[in-house]
Amino acid sequence: MKDNITGGGLKKVLYTLKLAQKTGLRSTAKALNSRNTCKTCGLGMGGQRGGMTNELGEFPSVCNKSVQAQSTDLQPPIPLEVFNHDLHDLKELDESELAKLGRLTTPIYKAAGALGYTPVSWQEAASISAKAFRNSQPERTFFYSSGRSSNEAGFILQLLARIYGTNNVSNCSYYCHQATSEGLGQSIGHGTATVELEDLSSCDFIMLLGANPASNHPRFIYKLQACRERGGEVVIVNPAKEPGLVRFAMPKSARSLLIGGSPIATEYLQPNIGGDLALLRGIAKAVIEQDGCAKAFLAAHTDDAQVYIDAVKNTSWQEIAEACGIGCDEIQRVAQKYCQAKHAVFAWGMGITHHKHGVDNVEEIANLALLRGMIGRPYSGLLPLRGHSNVQGIGTIGVKPVLSSEVFEAIEKHFDVELPTKVGMDTMACLEAADRGEIDAALLMGGNLYSATPNSTWAKSALDRIGFTLCLTTTLNRTHLYGLDNSSALVLPVKARDEEHQATTQESMFNYIRLSDGGIHRHDGARSEVDILIELASQLVDVAKFDFKQFHQHKSIRAAIAATVPGLEQLASIDVAKREFHVNNRILHSPVFNTTSGRARFNVNPIPTLSTNRPYTLASVRSEGQFNTIIYEQADTYRGATIRECLFINAADLASLGIKDGDLVDVHSDTGSLLGYQAILFDLPRSNVLAYFPEANILISTDRDERSKTPAFKSVSVSIVASKTAN
Ligand code: SF4
Repeated sequence: MKDNITGGGLKKVLYTLKLAQKTGLRSTAKALNSRNTCKTCGLGMGGQRGGMTNELGEFPSVCNKSVQAQSTDLQPPIPLEVFNHDLHDLKELDESELAKLGRLTTPIYKAAGALGYTPVSWQEAASISAKAFRNSQPERTFFYSSGRSSNEAGFILQLLARIYGTNNVSNCSYYCHQATSEGLGQSIGHGTATVELEDLSSCDFIMLLGANPASNHPRFIYKLQACRERGGEVVIVNPAKEPGLVRFAMPKSARSLLIGGSPIATEYLQPNIGGDLALLRGIAKAVIEQDGCAKAFLAAHTDDAQVYIDAVKNTSWQEIAEACGIGCDEIQRVAQKYCQAKHAVFAWGMGITHHKHGVDNVEEIANLALLRGMIGRPYSGLLPLRGHSNVQGIGTIGVKPVLSSEVFEAIEKHFDVELPTKVGMDTMACLEAADRGEIDAALLMGGNLYSATPNSTWAKSALDRIGFTLCLTTTLNRTHLYGLDNSSALVLPVKARDEEHQATTQESMFNYIRLSDGGIHRHDGARSEVDILIELASQLVDVAKFDFKQFHQHKSIRAAIAATVPGLEQLASIDVAKREFHVNNRILHSPVFNTTSGRARFNVNPIPTLSTNRPYTLASVRSEGQFNTIIYEQADTYRGATIRECLFINAADLASLGIKDGDLVDVHSDTGSLLGYQAILFDLPRSNVLAYFPEANILISTDRDERSKTPAFKSVSVSIVASKTAN
């Protein structure tokens, strides 16, 4: 790792200004100050308070992630001449270059067997997509949404799929936080955060696991720094010593800038990749040994506490240390700080969920929090850090293969319809069905499914076996180019959130529902996702059975959501009252849990053994200049990388491979290889390495957590050799 690298700081301010100047300061400022939800991470900013203001009225100085997203939307249209080039030519562009081609403003169609796309009219587009879905059996189709779309579009998407005849409805959380939803569902009865933003203002202990908010949730860093500054503990658990979690220069604090950044972590634990559960078990063991359990809380508000305590006591320190790589003394020290905390918050990212034991990891976090009674009280609780701005909302309003029985029955009753009962397929299951030749048509609302899917070689061939793919997007990405050699695809341009002609809503990771006004006019060619879905639905579903035209007004969709999805009752009047709100019954300031017993549940899982048929374990990670699969810049200023074709590796591992910092290596797994990658010295435990997502997907198998169906993007067994490619 390069010395003296600090997260944030003036360079970030300059970078943001440069980006804004490129797209035009005035239009960037207008977009950033409008009353629309931030388009980027799930923390949530904007909405009716305007700009980058949060629900507490705090106005941050700068967030380059937000500006990056705006810079893509503010682009001029893609010149039509681009489509004179066939897919082969377009594939020469990387993700970043594709996004920078501009905004898609006309429908484009590629027939099966054609070499490239041709612009088509909206009328032709409507007829092509209706014909493809009409000619398919509903069971041989699937419907997918990313977390970019609104609650309104998501609700119509899932309703269309179900009334058309299939529950094959999924979303991108099957590649990120589904393990959180499953695990928390088991532990506390609902799968989202138990804290609101304000709780972070008074907690005195935050444990952050498997996440790098310096790059991915920039405003969260301020909360960590503030906790430390008021004397609280900030315990980071991450195999990689991320510079932005050690020190972060707060752009709006002159002092922080002058002293080269404010310290963030008070403790930094670096377990082996996949060692989190063992480490958490170790902390629980130390809490028990230090007599730190909240005995009255456990007796009054939890089930199976003693079963868990016995299991913890029966786990030896040796087993814990071997599995996580961290010794008893360090664990005892952190546990002591936890025992002294009055208000503890546990936050986590995909370093926890991207494993074959992702759900077990989440349950163990909940176990540790419950052990000290830290769920169900103010300023304390659980906080999964969600990646995309509305990924949580998309799940809440039913874009998933199995609706809760409550929502299922409410929809049937409210609309007087019968929904299909066959269990729908999750994202990976849909692609596996495609690979078996069992999918004829797919609708992808946003996202970049090809790039997001593990085992890229397999993903390409699976996608190519889908006869017809309908994509809704603002810009081009690799899903519009790969896996289409033999199949047909229609790509439709959609409005960005702040361009919608009617208001839309989004849900943050704090369960906070924001209202986006929309209303900014940029391009004539793009349409609202809701309008596109209603048009398709009107052609697929007999109007006598269900009239989708009733949803042309977004407020009618919100009324339907309010009537059918528990907790969202206030959505019906949000556009009139302009009152944003927290989803009911999720923020737990008292220990009342939505489980059948009304008590939280301890879950006991074995300490996992990782598959280690090769000597190294690789985790795929995002860079500073990246948002999900969108690459804004090649360099990762925090980690000191100038290119993305690199592998972060420990000094002793470099030495044992007989190579030095900067040399090239080849990385092999059971599914593929990365050749000629630059080795970059980084502070990691031995035998643990990192490479960037999505490039590393070539190495990652489709093996997944059987409980959440989430692929193990962060524990891949690899071997590394000095590259035969000349340095
Ligand atoms: S922290 Fe996240 S939600 Fe807030 S402004 Fe930055 S990207 Fe947007």
